[in-house]
Amino acid sequence: MTTNFYAPPSAFRGQRVVLPDDEARHVCSVLRAEAGDEIMVVDGEGVWSRVRIDHAAPEQVVGTVKERRTDVGEPDVSVTVGMGMLTKRDRFETFVEKAVELGVARIAPLSTRHTEQASVRADRLRRIMIAAVKQCRRSRVPALAGPKSLDELLAGTTAERRFICHGESDAVPLGPALEDIDGEEVLLLVGPEGGFAPVEVERAQAAGCIPVHLGARRLRAETAGIAALTRVLL
Ligand code: SAH
Repeated sequence: MTTNFYAPPSAFRGQRVVLPDDEARHVCSVLRAEAGDEIMVVDGEGVWSRVRIDHAAPEQVVGTVKERRTDVGEPDVSVTVGMGMLTKRDRFETFVEKAVELGVARIAPLSTRHTEQASVRADRLRRIMIAAVKQCRRSRVPALAGPKSLDELLAGTTAERRFICHGESDAVPLGPALEDIDGEEVLLLVGPEGGFAPVEVERAQAAGCIPVHLGARRLRAETAGIAALTRVLL
């Protein structure tokens, strides 16, 4: 079975959909699809469609929606990850790809005391996210917040359950801390390579975050983010 295709909501008019150029090329060159074939198309905002191809050429693919469903492949729990921006961009990008596959709802790159990186390449991250959404067959592209400070993220979050990943002795294991979660919104904070400063952990705690650990080994930040998300979402 092939991957899903992506077309933003603006590509749909009633039952008719015109695929974006790069998706049309993919349908024709890789899939070698023809009129009459069916493909699955997601709009990145929760709508999944079974589409019959009416016209297939590398420069334009037009189809008709035969069936529509919402939130195919989406988890029950909404998880936001605040992740320290990493010095190595490719490590942050790896994290973003895996986080999408695991079902994250929102990624907020964090600027903290120990982050050395000042920005993320939002366009690139969005492309990575769309590719991952198609590949893993979910229907929503997670939100990507602009870089925020920890205080900004904490002030703006509505998450009922909040955790800061922190491999110190006062932290509790993440697993048991999650036990009674039932469809609530979750916030996970993960530090950059240099970790969180003690004052940041204190501020997060004051805002309701529970310090949690992920085992006795010190993980790379992106591994910590993937491990924590796995624990919450699987
Ligand atoms: N040099 C830092 C380690 C940073 S690891 C220090 O000594 O604090 C980067 C981030 O990954 C940490 O800020 C934390 O959020 C997360 N992390 C890594 N290993 C972890 C573990 N065993 N438990 C919980 N969080 C961990």
